Amino acid sequence: MITVLCNKSGDKAQMKYCGGCRSTYYCSRACQRADWRDHKDICADLREFKHFDSLTYSGADRAFFRQLMDEAYSSLKGHVLEELVLMASRIGGVGLPCIAFDFHRREIRGEELSRMANDSTRADPRVIQASRSKNKMWLQSMGIADWSNKTLEYKWRVMPMWCDKGAELADEIEKVSRLPVEEHAQAVEELTKWVCVETH
Ligand SMILES: [Zn+2]
Ligand SMILES: [Zn+2]
Repeated sequence: MITVLCNKSGDKAQMKYCGGCRSTYYCSRACQRADWRDHKDICADLREFKHFDSLTYSGADRAFFRQLMDEAYSSLKGHVLEELVLMASRIGGVGLPCIAFDFHRREIRGEELSRMANDSTRADPRVIQASRSKNKMWLQSMGIADWSNKTLEYKWRVMPMWCDKGAELADEIEKVSRLPVEEHAQAVEELTKWVCVETH
């Protein structure tokens, strides 16, 4: 199951994808045409990213990363939401949320990436795509220790995630962040029941 930008869910095999970047999915040609005005600015960058990524990691590695993220996300969902609530209290809103999963230090933390999305010199096309999605696309990043060159290299890999009802979820997180702290745990517990996510 995947969710596309318009928030329709379905079988990946039944979805249409953009032939340019092969990484943006649509429910129909009409939907794709409607998104083209925004999509055309990042399509080539997404394609380039996908190409570079495929040179860096094998298909099996990438499938493993997705699986690892999905497992980590589902088992830590409550903790992820708590982090997002904390971040929302700190900055006064959800903004462009990104949960960083640090698999080396075994910790997670919430980050806000709006500034990154607006800084063209550092912009990852997926960060731009997420910033335009009005919270339908959420970001996770995974930090992995890579010893392949015999020294420790710490690598961060941004992974987009489609979130059903992402915009509503952002509103709910902001609401919870304004509640008294002692009510957070109960409210977060409620939220975990309806969050359904899948890394793409
Ligand atoms: Zn494209
Ligand atoms: Zn659609």
